[in-house]
Formats: sequence, C-alpha cells, structure tokens
Amino acid sequence: MTHVRSEALFARASAVTPGGVNSPVRAFRAVGGTPRFIRSASGSRLTDVDGNEYVDLVGSWGPMLLGHAHPEVLAAVGEALARGTSYGAPTQAEVELAEEIVQRTPVDQVRLVSSGTEATMSAVRLARGFTGRDVVVKFAGCYHGHVDALLASAGSGLTTLAVPGTPGVPESATALTRVLRYNDAEALEALFAEEGEHVACVITEAAPGNMGVVPPDPGFNQLLARTCADHGALFVSDEVMTGFRVSRQGQWGLDGATEGWAPDLMTFGKVMGGGFPAAAFGGRADVMAMLSPVGPVYQAGTLSGNPIAATAGLTTLRLATDEVYVRVGAVAELVKEAADKALSDAGVAHAVQATGTMFSVFFADGPVRDYDAAQRQDTAAYAAFFHAMLDRGVYLPPSAYEAWFLSSAHDDAAVGTIVDALPHAARAAADAQEAARG
Ligand code: PLP
Repeated sequence: MTHVRSEALFARASAVTPGGVNSPVRAFRAVGGTPRFIRSASGSRLTDVDGNEYVDLVGSWGPMLLGHAHPEVLAAVGEALARGTSYGAPTQAEVELAEEIVQRTPVDQVRLVSSGTEATMSAVRLARGFTGRDVVVKFAGCYHGHVDALLASAGSGLTTLAVPGTPGVPESATALTRVLRYNDAEALEALFAEEGEHVACVITEAAPGNMGVVPPDPGFNQLLARTCADHGALFVSDEVMTGFRVSRQGQWGLDGATEGWAPDLMTFGKVMGGGFPAAAFGGRADVMAMLSPVGPVYQAGTLSGNPIAATAGLTTLRLATDEVYVRVGAVAELVKEAADKALSDAGVAHAVQATGTMFSVFFADGPVRDYDAAQRQDTAAYAAFFHAMLDRGVYLPPSAYEAWFLSSAHDDAAVGTIVDALPHAARAAADAQEAARG
C-alpha cells in the first residue's frame, strides 16, 4: 500500500488547517502515522486517494447505518438537490423527519438543528430556562459535543465540582457544572441531597460510546429519570450516537420502553442526518413550549432543517427497518466474537463491550464501568493493533476510546476481511506489549 497522495494532501492540509484536519480525532495522533484522505465510499468500503480500499468500521463516526452511498438515499438527495439547497423557510421534509422521530421515540416535539453540539447546547439552555435553575450534572467520560459548559472534567479528589476540560473555557462557564462518575448511583444521590433544588438537568449519554462503549448498569437510566423527577430537575438523554443506531429507537428502545420511563429531553444526530449535518433535540410538550417562537427561550439556525439534510435523514430512517437492525446486530456479533477470540489467542487482556449493535474493544481487563477504568487501557497496544488492521484493509477508529460502527452493507466479504485481519492485529498488539515490558 502506498500513501503518497495522502501524505502530500496531509502536508498541504497541515499548512492551512491546524493539525491538517477539521476534527481532531481524524489526525491519527492517538495511533501515529498519516491520516488517509478518502476519495470515495460505497457500501461498507472506503477508497483513499492512493486507491487503497478499506472495510470501514468508523461509518463517519456513526451516521452510516445503511452503508455509504446507499442508492435510495442518493436518489432522494439528488431529487431534493434539483429543487434547490436551502430556503430559510419551512419544508415538507422537515415535518416528515420530525414526525418520524416523534413516532419512534418518547419525545412529543422536536426542533431540528445542524450538529449534535447544537442539540445538547440547546437542550441544556431549554432545561435551564424551563426550571429556572442553573446547575447541570454530567458524567465523566460522556461527551456531548464541544459545548463550553459540558467540556468539563471532574475536579480533583472526591469533589464533583467541574474544571474546564480545555483552555478557552473560562472557569465561570463550568462553575455551574457538576461531574459525577458514570454508573455511580451513590454519588448521584449525594449530589442531589446536597444541591438537588438547584439542579436544572442531568445530561448523560443514553449509553456512553465516547469512552469506548460502557453500557449503563441495569436500572441506571431509570434511576437518573426518577431522581430528576423527585427533585424537579429534567433528565436529558443524549442519543446523538445511540439514537436509531443501537436499535430502531436507540438506547431508550432497548430498556426504556419496557421499564415505563421516558427522558424529559432527548438529543439526536448522526443516523438521523443520513450523512449530512442534521441533529435534533426534543422532549415533553410542556418543556418544548418554552422554546422560541412559542416561549421565551431563544434558539435558531440559518441551516436548521436544511432540505437536503432532512431528505437524507428521512430516507435513512425510513429505510432503517427492523431487518436492518437484525442484520447489523448479526454482523456485530460475528466481529465481536472474532475480535474476542483473536485477542484471547494472542494473550492480550481485553474486554469487548456492547450496547445493542454498537460495541468497542478495551485493551484492558474488564469490565469497564466508568472513565477511570476506561483510561487504564493499553493505548500503545491499540495503536499497534490499529495499524496492523489498516495494513490489511480494515479502517478502525484511530483511537482506543471509540466505538466500532458497522452497517447493513457489511456483507460476508467485508466480514471475511475483518476476521482474517484480526489474528495478525492481535499478534501485533501482543508484540507491542512484549516490547514495552522490555
Ligand atoms: N453527543 C454525543 C453522544 C456524541 O457522540 C457527539 C459526537 O460524537 C455529540 C454529542 C456532538 O455531535 P456533533 O459532533 O455532531 O457536534
């Protein structure tokens, strides 16, 4: 495999864009080497600018549930394009996309936006506006986009006070944020006992996928919903990654529907945009009624509900039938088992964790229930594993902390390529661990 063109483009990109990329994880910094510049994608495969082909396990970080360049999505988008690309006025596609989301999830109403970040930022503002309270509770290791108040890390020691997770976020922006350990019911109860009357909302990934996949303990989301209800706070379930990905509804569809609870607000993105910039937040009718232009909480967007993005999202959701989830689930099962076996055979400590059809592999002794445990994994071994897979034509997430995403377009040949590559990659990881031990 040569990478001459990718390297040349990366050099040009690095001159005009920080790190040569438009979103940090794409830069391969966590695994080393040069990012592949992609020329095209179809079904389960990516082709880079040097003509190398890869079976894709990133899926644009989640959206491509149906695979790339799905013919029906392309056809619908093509028709929409011919009618113009943006009007700044309402369209039928937006209504139908909103109806599709409302029908599949517990929300009464949604507002469409252009990114997951916008969705969570707006949901937090709405929760604060609705409750008249300011404190926001989040969990370490959950990522909700680059919203200032949510770019917070846990403070030192046992305190739940947040500190800015990045320069550029003033302390004042996170002063009203509290960060708890994920899956820690006691910490939640202690926090609410102390300052429950000031909490506007608890926001959580419905099933975290941004520290690797860490499923909620049974009953944890229900506990969050109940605790919020008991204290007059709102429960915001972030399903930007899991929504329409882990099941037809998302994580909520896996456990919420049967347990009889619902979040007050939810956020969506990724799959519902069908590969275009579209996201949404929604929730209880009385909460959504606080939103401008009906209520006083301001929120807006020039390209919100863009007709092309709405068409791609709507077409994707309509095509995402139960059979699609069964197919993705079956393929995920095969890949999980093969990864598990390859790493066991090579003697590499690991834990494969899943929520519905979404899964990841931790290079650590499992189970991983929170961010501290996730951070104990061997990222150097993952880097060796990643590159061995890439060399054999499999494109994994270039970071050990990310979910692996499959699609209904992953056919037997794609699975075969992955399964054949795994033992080599597992041995590369074992060799890296051996070398590190010296
Ligand atoms: N929330 C979750 C759970 C996410 O996984 C992400 C992105 O990965 C976001 C929010 C932010 O979405 P976006 O990158 O579209 O701003």
